[in-house]
Amino acid sequence: MPEGTVGGTTEAMAIPALDSAEELSCDVLVIGGGTAGTMAALTAAEHGASVLLLEKAHVRHSGALAMGMDGVNNAVVPGRAEPDDYVAEITRANDGIVDQSTVRQTATRGFAMVQRLEAYGVKFEKDEHGAYAVRQVHRSGSYVLPMPEGKDVKKVLYRQLRRREMRERIRIENRIMPVRVLTSGGRAVGAAGFHTRTGHFVTVRAGAVILATGACGRLGLPASGYLYGTYENPTNAGDGYAMAYHAGAALTGIECFQINPLIKDYNGPACAYVANPFGGYQVNRHGERFVESDYWSGQMMAEFAAEVASERGPVYLKLSHLPEESVSALETILHTTERPTRGTFHAGRGHDYRTHDVEMHISEIGLCGGHSASGVRVDDHARTTVPALYAAGDLACVPHNYMIGAFVFGDLAGADAAQYRAYEGELPHDQLRDAHELIYRPLRNPDGPPQPQVEYKLRRFVNDYVAPPKSGARLSLAVEHFARMHTDLAAMGARTPHELMRCAEVGFIRDCAEMAARSSLARTESRWGLYHARTDHPETDDTEWLHHLDLRKSATGRMEFTARPVAPYLVPVDEYRPVGGAPRFLGEVHPEQVATAGRRDRPPVGASVVGAPAVGAEGVAPLGADGGAGGGGGTAVATPGAAGADATAGTTPGAGAGVGAAAGVGTGVGPGAGTSPRILELLALAEDQPDLPALRPYLADPDPAVRRAAVDTLTETVPSGTGQALATALADPDPAVRAAAGASLRELIEVLPPEPGLRAPLAAAVHGPDAVVRSAAVEVLRALRLGDRALFVTALTDPAVEVRVQAVRALVSVDAADELRRAARDASREVRVAAAHGLGTVGSPGDLAVPLRDEDVLVRAAALAALATTGCPPPYDAAAVAALGDPAWQVRSGAATALTAAAPEPAVAALRSALSDGHADVRKAGVLALRAHASRADARQALATVADDPDADVRAYARLATKG
Ligand SMILES: Cc1cc2nc3c(=O)[nH]c(=O)nc-3n(C[C@H](O)[C@H](O)[C@H](O)COP(=O)(O)OP(=O)(O)OC[C@H]3O[C@@H](n4cnc5c(N)ncnc54)[C@H](O)[C@@H]3O)c2cc1C
Repeated sequence: MPEGTVGGTTEAMAIPALDSAEELSCDVLVIGGGTAGTMAALTAAEHGASVLLLEKAHVRHSGALAMGMDGVNNAVVPGRAEPDDYVAEITRANDGIVDQSTVRQTATRGFAMVQRLEAYGVKFEKDEHGAYAVRQVHRSGSYVLPMPEGKDVKKVLYRQLRRREMRERIRIENRIMPVRVLTSGGRAVGAAGFHTRTGHFVTVRAGAVILATGACGRLGLPASGYLYGTYENPTNAGDGYAMAYHAGAALTGIECFQINPLIKDYNGPACAYVANPFGGYQVNRHGERFVESDYWSGQMMAEFAAEVASERGPVYLKLSHLPEESVSALETILHTTERPTRGTFHAGRGHDYRTHDVEMHISEIGLCGGHSASGVRVDDHARTTVPALYAAGDLACVPHNYMIGAFVFGDLAGADAAQYRAYEGELPHDQLRDAHELIYRPLRNPDGPPQPQVEYKLRRFVNDYVAPPKSGARLSLAVEHFARMHTDLAAMGARTPHELMRCAEVGFIRDCAEMAARSSLARTESRWGLYHARTDHPETDDTEWLHHLDLRKSATGRMEFTARPVAPYLVPVDEYRPVGGAPRFLGEVHPEQVATAGRRDRPPVGASVVGAPAVGAEGVAPLGADGGAGGGGGTAVATPGAAGADATAGTTPGAGAGVGAAAGVGTGVGPGAGTSPRILELLALAEDQPDLPALRPYLADPDPAVRRAAVDTLTETVPSGTGQALATALADPDPAVRAAAGASLRELIEVLPPEPGLRAPLAAAVHGPDAVVRSAAVEVLRALRLGDRALFVTALTDPAVEVRVQAVRALVSVDAADELRRAARDASREVRVAAAHGLGTVGSPGDLAVPLRDEDVLVRAAALAALATTGCPPPYDAAAVAALGDPAWQVRSGAATALTAAAPEPAVAALRSALSDGHADVRKAGVLALRAHASRADARQALATVADDPDADVRAYARLATKG
């Protein structure tokens, strides 16, 4: 029997004494070591503050960033987009309810952040000449900057945190989970928490506190029933929302939920963002595109949900029409950068993107500022309404902020918070006692209902009563259930520190659930499409409700609301005209009278507390109302014990472990970690930021597993001379070490100095035995500008297709049109397609003569599309017009694209005929090409003919083109 077990059950740990706490001190405390938190820590340290970074998992792997980052969703890259356009589009996507001063910070600082991340070593997709490959994914704005190798972002950040200068200023404590922010005199002064492995009590004294704990991802229950099978990283349980609330900070937009499209039965996004540039898109079961909305929004989700529920459902991500090259490239991204389990999931069903489109569904509800707008209220420097308390990342309300916004606001928070020095007063004893009770209470009742059961019950209520479509009646029932669940939570049992962590999380989820229900009840209109669709208030009411809905804890401990008019915009948006003005204090929101078999004349039990105001028809107490029961407020609070009557906990399909990043993910360097004592030595050494001489013996070790681990350590720590050492390792006798060195060089491409000494080993590797290493060598030589035309021409004769494709990209980077013409005759279609694309960048129409006659449909299509950038003069325009009659739709689509650059005669007439093509992608290409000619009346007339096209993209792009 393992140690610590009695009679087959684990003995409950002892409750540590309140005064046995380990007390830590710092200028700036950062809670949560994900995207925003790591950046906040780095910036605060750079500004001279002593920083303590507390993470309940392990910073190396934790948070939303640890997996699935395949692109920056919202980069305003100069030359590709304008900050003001971005601000206007986010304002529209958020139905007018934004504080533009915050969104503008992301718009204006996002690009510098991209460059800072790049200097750290994060790789963004670039074209052959080094320009950012920004993509237009939605119909409005070009903001998506792909990161096909985004799986390494967290690794890169961790490397920064462990740089010697940073380690002197930033103390990282993994597995410590704060549960409450401590306040004194109305300002933040620290936090209280515990160690999730040892269970010891921890208190922190801090000058300022930055909350960066991510979304509330475990709010709704996924359709699969798995507690941790959420869209969001499941360790993000709304901790920061609850901590901010209890510290007295205002939260805002909590009724604007996060709901996302995702793969049916699998907790991953379908990734239309990734698939779109490859030609994938969402369709209904008839194969029709159906999304009308021009940007990611609740409106888009409403259309999505309606389509799923309609006769036209289910909905699919369509990939089966794509050529093999695109499918395999997508598989590489989706099954590595996105989620490794994804390939296993599809394979388990016997599905393949070549044969089955991917069935999609909608996610459970959550709270998230980054994908939606539900968060802690912050100003344009991440300051909350509590002095010295900051919030950044997904838990802060800066709508549609995503990853780059989390970095920007982490940076802003770190810079501002660095002005504070460690708090020297007494920590508030009553708050410490309450936090201690909150953490350790389940140990007093080890045989009580376990966390999975209570959490399952709570989140089932969220699905039943809070998920849209919402109604006053269902939301009122929700409020009653959540109030009753205080009793279930009080009875919950735990024995281990890990279980204590999960129990504390259930408390956060309950708080978030009540906030979500009450906020939804308070906003008596519908807005943000599906996010806040109320069946009893179906209209959007800009007169009463072009307001933020702020929520805070009142002095008596209840949730109270204020409607705050949207401030006049910095960037005007035609559809909305906010005028600002005084906030409307709404007070507490009371549940409606429901769940009776008829009209009830007297208020339900609990609302009759002395001083409780009458419940208005809107369910919101009138100005200044302050009645109701204590605790969670509302009608149901005064009914302790009621939970027992409906204690359905007991069936817990949610108890299983979920897929995705979770607390407790182990560490380890490469395969073989732990198999040799030398590797353990190496791992210990890695913690101390070794220099290259210290690593050399391991790079030369006789055991290839040790050499491989040494390559991984080099990649993680990047001491001076790393490039040279990795390039040398490309000639290692062991193929796995060579492959690891190649992968590492690719990973570090943005941070390796282009030292001339690198050229010789890289050039030698171009002739090495493994294709994967040869292709890495060509790529690195191109990116570091260390190669030349002769070297790349050699690579064009390589037997491996992947190396020749890299050679084509390299030849584009040196403007070698002659050699690209040679590549256009390659035996491989993939190389010929790449050559046609390349000639579109550096060639002339005449250079495309061969690919335009190619026997392969996709090569001809690529060559035609390339004419759109080289220009499409006679006789190429005539060839394009003729190609509109080709039997292959890909060729017809390419031909329509070519006519973008042709003279209006004959382009417009030919494109008009393309608008009646049987294939939606040809019609779409026709509409996009006609946009280039939209100054002409005949082009506009042609565009008007597709107003009723069955394809949503065709309709919408035509509408946008004629709007000008
Ligand atoms: C599946 C998915 C895919 C995405 N893809 C993209 C994309 O491709 N492009 C893009 O721009 N954006 C994307 N996003 C959004 C982006 O990842 C987030 O907006 C961003 O990472 C949020 O950063 P954050 O710091 O707020 O949260 P996180 O990075 O999740 O960090 C929160 C951290 O806080 C820790 N924590 C939580 N509670 C506590 C506590 N009580 N004590 C201590 N630590 C705690 C967590 O363990 C975690 O490490 C995606 C999000 C998801 C979920």
